[in-house]
Amino acid sequence: MSHLHYRIRVAIPLHLYDCFDYLLSESQYQQAEVGARVAVSFGRQNLVGIISEKLAPDAPLDPHIKLKSITELLDQHAILDANSLKLLNWAAKYYQFPLGEVLHSALPSLLRQGKPYNLLARMWRVLDVIAEDKLKRSEKQREAYKVLKLHPTGTAENILNLAGIETSTLKALEKKGIVDCVLEPQDFSPMPMTLAQMPLTANDEQKVAIQSILKAKNKYQAFLLDGLTGSGKTEVYLQVMQEVLKQGKQVLVLVPEIGLTPQTISRFQSRFHCNIVLMHSGLNDSKRLQAWQHAQTGKASIILGTRSAIFAPMANLGLIILDEEHDLSFKQQESFRYHARDVALYRAYLQQCPIVLGSATPSIDSYALVKQGKMTALQLNQRAGSAIMPKIHVLDLKVENKIHGISQSLIGEIKKRLEKKEQVLVFLNRRGYAPVLICDSCAWQAKCPNCDANFTVHHQPYVHLHCHHCGTIQRKPDTCPSCNHQELKPIGLGTGKVEEQLAELFPDYPVLRVDRDSTSRVGSWQKIYDKIHSSEPLILLGTQMLAKGHHFPYVTLVAILDIDSGLLSVDFRAPERTAQLIIQVAGRAGRGERKGDVYLQTLRPDHPLLSTIVNHDYRAFAKQTLAEREIAQLPPFRYAALVRCESRSQDQNLDMLTQHAQFLRDMSAQKISIWGPIPAPMERKAGRFHAHMVLLATERSQLHLQLGVWWPNLLQQKPAQMKLSLDIDPQELS
Ligand code: ADP
Ligand code: ZN
Ligand code: ZN
Repeated sequence: MSHLHYRIRVAIPLHLYDCFDYLLSESQYQQAEVGARVAVSFGRQNLVGIISEKLAPDAPLDPHIKLKSITELLDQHAILDANSLKLLNWAAKYYQFPLGEVLHSALPSLLRQGKPYNLLARMWRVLDVIAEDKLKRSEKQREAYKVLKLHPTGTAENILNLAGIETSTLKALEKKGIVDCVLEPQDFSPMPMTLAQMPLTANDEQKVAIQSILKAKNKYQAFLLDGLTGSGKTEVYLQVMQEVLKQGKQVLVLVPEIGLTPQTISRFQSRFHCNIVLMHSGLNDSKRLQAWQHAQTGKASIILGTRSAIFAPMANLGLIILDEEHDLSFKQQESFRYHARDVALYRAYLQQCPIVLGSATPSIDSYALVKQGKMTALQLNQRAGSAIMPKIHVLDLKVENKIHGISQSLIGEIKKRLEKKEQVLVFLNRRGYAPVLICDSCAWQAKCPNCDANFTVHHQPYVHLHCHHCGTIQRKPDTCPSCNHQELKPIGLGTGKVEEQLAELFPDYPVLRVDRDSTSRVGSWQKIYDKIHSSEPLILLGTQMLAKGHHFPYVTLVAILDIDSGLLSVDFRAPERTAQLIIQVAGRAGRGERKGDVYLQTLRPDHPLLSTIVNHDYRAFAKQTLAEREIAQLPPFRYAALVRCESRSQDQNLDMLTQHAQFLRDMSAQKISIWGPIPAPMERKAGRFHAHMVLLATERSQLHLQLGVWWPNLLQQKPAQMKLSLDIDPQELS
């Protein structure tokens, strides 16, 4: 029997496009399952790989290649099921990214490190069932106690944490002898869903949407739920989910950012009694593993997550919902550059289940799919309940009187609202104090030494200069380094400066700043959120974070201070992004009983984009944009890939790209057109030079076929210090 060789092919987590074969014993071979982990050595490294294939024992073995044996089989069973493997294999091919790295990115980090799959769950149980009176003084403990009492057999700690019950509270109860904690092997039987709250009575448009989606309950169909902000999309999701959960199936809900999840999860929790897990990058390793296992085994009924949750294996997936589908954060912008929306569509297709993409400002790409008949559009045209759409006013900054960059009439309007005890939202998409520091005398500007960019002035937590492109931080000079002049002036508006000005203009009202700098601490956003919902008059000031999905019932005025950079950008997607941003921010106004107004400051009041937006006619804007893209043969009418190149020499970048562009032209018999190579808009970043080129093809299959050969070849030939990346369906051309 010496001609039999037991071999498996292993995907290893290195940036290599091949998988590697390893030997193992016959008994190991019998046990080994595709999708299980193995420990292997590769060169001098010990790695955790995933079995991608079992080779037939009688397949010939090249005698010149000396194969290593595996170190250890880590799993008795596949931890990635067949459908997940199919999805990940597809994604690796589609995005031209090494399978080993793609598979690894789908695993929680403990499993990537080779830790055992079986974990113990911490279960909390009530010991003393008549302790309520002892807990009079701590509301937190009383709340926790009440929840625990509902489930006499115990509740897993992560589930309790999700419900807002902190581990410290549980430990305090334990000290008092009222509850205890046991470690139990995870039992993976799902908890049946029951309704915790009656659904709202759907309006006619909602009914049509719900019924259409439910008709596709057990097959693949993609829906675009195109509904104004506040038109009741979430209620549609909830009612569709209800039916799918009733069938005992799981629902995957993707949202753009973790900031949104506490609100969404509480809405789901108050509607359904069932096992809901959260999946996002903020979880610690063991919680992440637990969430992943609950999804994989079917114990969790609802999986609510951000982008990467799209790869979570699920035993019994019956519906995918992707909310705010236009949001750019669904696209990973580094290394494995997948778009969760596109992966989600393919996943639903593999799974033969419906998928709903929802937005008030759908992407142009999704409208194109509707037009091609690949997606079904469902529209919600009325705001749910009594709310009506806010009126948008354009303020011409060229003629308005301003105080520190804010129009005086706008200041007057803000004052009126605050006096009526209403809330105001001021939007400015620029963090920091001011984007430029300039010398009053010689016009010297503070520039990052490593980038072609100005330093942003920050005043918090102390005065300093910060480059938003490479992270360089410097002390702010006291005098001009060029002419020694005493006066260095911060120019332009950042949220930090506006915060100061608003506090000065409206000293009697709180100004809450919401941006990455002010909300990075855990829990800080929740505090702000609670204040907003307390209905007191206040000013909410923030960046993009405020544009997303939030329901602010007491905000009646939205001020957009500056969107001109979006109107002037050369990126062909910039108008789409700008229109989406304006409508999304505007949509935060007047979601309660009182009508809202939106004021938009601009130096370009005549810009055509603004006139469509003023009428809330996003669909007209989209239709026009689609027509323009078709004429210019831009995506989605052609398929694009962006090759980015960076090194210490721009000449080297451009030479390399030019040479390989020519190969690709020849190879593809001109079926792929190439723009560039050109220097990137910001040529020098973090001390390195950047260049790129865009590949465009009429047929997707052509593009992928050619790239499959051309790209690995290009990677092999590049100098070691050069970095190259390939971005399939790029969302930003920079
Ligand atoms: P969207 O997700 O489209 O922004 P939501 O689902 O959050 O909209 O709904 C906005 C508000 O309208 C919420 O307060 C919601 O409870 C309410 N709402 C939604 N549907 C209905 C309905 N059919 N009847 C009454 N109120 C509704
Ligand atoms: Zn100077
Ligand atoms: Zn920099």
